[in-house]
Amino acid sequence: MTCLHCPNEARPSRRKCRACEMRAWRKAHPERAAFDNLRTHARQRGIVFALTLAQFCAFCQETGYVEGKGQSADSLTVDRVRHTEGYHAGNLQALTHAHNSRKGWFERHGLEMGEADEEELP
Ligand SMILES: [Zn+2]
Repeated sequence: MTCLHCPNEARPSRRKCRACEMRAWRKAHPERAAFDNLRTHARQRGIVFALTLAQFCAFCQETGYVEGKGQSADSLTVDRVRHTEGYHAGNLQALTHAHNSRKGWFERHGLEMGEADEEELP
């Protein structure tokens, strides 16, 4: 049987293919999906991940991260405040991609980025 949503073959005894099931699940569980994604990428990059789902959900509610995340320069990323530390509840902030990449540039050059002069940064 064909998937309800696309030309792929549905999974046995189900109405959707694996890709469409995953997409539906992620849409229904955006915080859980973002959490899994963050943890997977942290592990791939060898960064300590000591965050619980509950802590991540609290972060999302505080910052609007799930609604704000995306690919554009002004969409939100999860930034580690102190990049020498891993992902844990006291080390997270939501920054835009644009802001985060400037912060990374400063960190690579051993500088502190002041909030006040943000307008003048590269
Ligand atoms: Zn499908």
